[in-house]
Amino acid sequence: MAYLTIDDVPSRLFAEKLAYLEELRLPALLFCVGEQARGREDELAEALASGCLLGNHSYSHPRFSELSIDACRREIERTDALLQSIYDLAGLAWEPKLFRFPYFDRGAAGRDAARLQLILRELGYRAPAAQGGDRADTDCSFDQKEYCLDDPEEVYARIDASHPGPGDVILIHDHEKSHKVFFECVDRYREHGLRFDSVT
Ligand SMILES: [Zn+2]
Repeated sequence: MAYLTIDDVPSRLFAEKLAYLEELRLPALLFCVGEQARGREDELAEALASGCLLGNHSYSHPRFSELSIDACRREIERTDALLQSIYDLAGLAWEPKLFRFPYFDRGAAGRDAARLQLILRELGYRAPAAQGGDRADTDCSFDQKEYCLDDPEEVYARIDASHPGPGDVILIHDHEKSHKVFFECVDRYREHGLRFDSVT
């Protein structure tokens, strides 16, 4: 089994992606940006009801290494509270609690980065079981890179070249710009025989 993680949820076109995930019964992990998720609690509660999970991807998607530690904490806590309210709305327990840093920027090297790991642990965040290691934030093992490659064929070629497989944590985004590419990528994962499970 592989794991599909979708960052920067929800875009304006998220409902279409959700309908597709529901049709496939694909339990994706949706890393939400708080300021985009605010006001769309019902839609995200529906995603939970359909078997997806929500993860914290900060409130305003900053580079954490450019913020004070207090500002970083606020970024994490604001979205933490919002996602908790969505799990409550759906009547579900929030487990596992997962966090992914925007741009994989884990904070200024040294003390701040270590403090951020402690803050995440205090709030109950941990890494997915498939990840291993001792960090509290979620990484990925296959980055689809559709956000930085302009030619869709180059995006699809990465799937053929790298063969994301069982155990992989795949990263793709809910961006309007790559909306069509998203569906084609997921179709191709499935054509390659990949099956998806919930992150644990
Ligand atoms: Zn992001």
